[in-house]
Amino acid sequence: MTYQLFDQKRSWIEIDLASLRYNVRSLLSLMKSKEQFMAVIKADAYGHGAVRIAQELNKMDIYCFAVATLSEAIELRENGIQGDILILGYTDPSQISYIQQYHLLQTITDVTYALAMDEMNIDIDVHIAIDTGMHRLGSGYNEINQIEAIYALKHLHVKGIFSHLCVSDSLKEEDKEFTEKQIQHYFELIQTLKNKNYNVGKTHIQSSYGLLNYPHLCCDYVRIGISLYGVYSSPYDQVKSSIELQPVLSLKSKIILLRHVKMDETIGYGRTYKASKERIIAVVPIGYADGLSRILSNQGYVLVRGEKVPIVGRICMDQMMIDVSDIRDIQVGDQVTIIGKDGNIYQSCENISDESHTISNETLSRLGYRLPRIYRDE
Ligand SMILES: *Cc1c(COP(=O)(O)O)cnc(C)c1O
Repeated sequence: MTYQLFDQKRSWIEIDLASLRYNVRSLLSLMKSKEQFMAVIKADAYGHGAVRIAQELNKMDIYCFAVATLSEAIELRENGIQGDILILGYTDPSQISYIQQYHLLQTITDVTYALAMDEMNIDIDVHIAIDTGMHRLGSGYNEINQIEAIYALKHLHVKGIFSHLCVSDSLKEEDKEFTEKQIQHYFELIQTLKNKNYNVGKTHIQSSYGLLNYPHLCCDYVRIGISLYGVYSSPYDQVKSSIELQPVLSLKSKIILLRHVKMDETIGYGRTYKASKERIIAVVPIGYADGLSRILSNQGYVLVRGEKVPIVGRICMDQMMIDVSDIRDIQVGDQVTIIGKDGNIYQSCENISDESHTISNETLSRLGYRLPRIYRDE
């Protein structure tokens, strides 16, 4: 969106493309070939900008992508992205002609949906989703008749079959057992279909944690989302194959106004912060509409001049206030780092997400449309 250009000097996202490439190479070290890499770039590549990220991946000979919606897929095609694009989520049957026109792959969420799509009389390529225990999308792994019914449909050309693991991020014994069961049921189904002479096409079951914790699995694709961006979902996550990853995204803003408040004066809506002594307060032009959780009000911290400074008062829609009393030489225009490195300290996406009672995936994907992205390539 071009109007964002005018907001460049308000608050912004910095994307480090060298780190993106580093992560791709690191992740590839756990795979057999580049052909296995399916880059999950839904939700605007987890806030990183889907078109630009896909362009960089095309340059690295990665030609397989997954998105959540039809619009996300069309945006990639309209910008010249090459390769397979799988829509992981629901597309209304009335829009099926676009799937054909843009050479996309549609996930078949269950047999009822398959029938509705087939009735449209338009030929498309699909991947069948199989439910092995998450109970979100997919036909049940043991509903073989229903799965065969999908293969029988005239207009749906099955190019792949996949499942999704729901606790592959956990190394707890019971979670590992559950995951192993999911994997076993998936592979048994594939074998059954092969024995019945179906061409199952491309197989895939791992996402980032599926790869990091179950690297021995051998499928045609691995769906790589969060780890492509160099972060873990939570700061407590442990993984079996720890590879080096570098965070790709930083979130920055700047101080636009400084004010002195006296003892007992309050800051912001609801007067939730009261100065216990004289304070210097800075206003920063970023708020919850930009994706910063309001839960960080009076909780979180940001970085200024290489030091941690607390968020004070409630985070507003477009602004927040921070206490910079202890920072020497503080000035209007000073940079504020919300995610990223400042001097010797680092505020990780995992950490700020944890303080917001969520995971990195949510924080990144909710970074607002008002934040321009600045791409660095060193
Ligand atoms: C979002 C998504 C992924 C990517 O997951 P990460 O944990 O971010 O790697 C993979 N598969 C499906 C079906 C998804 O919806």
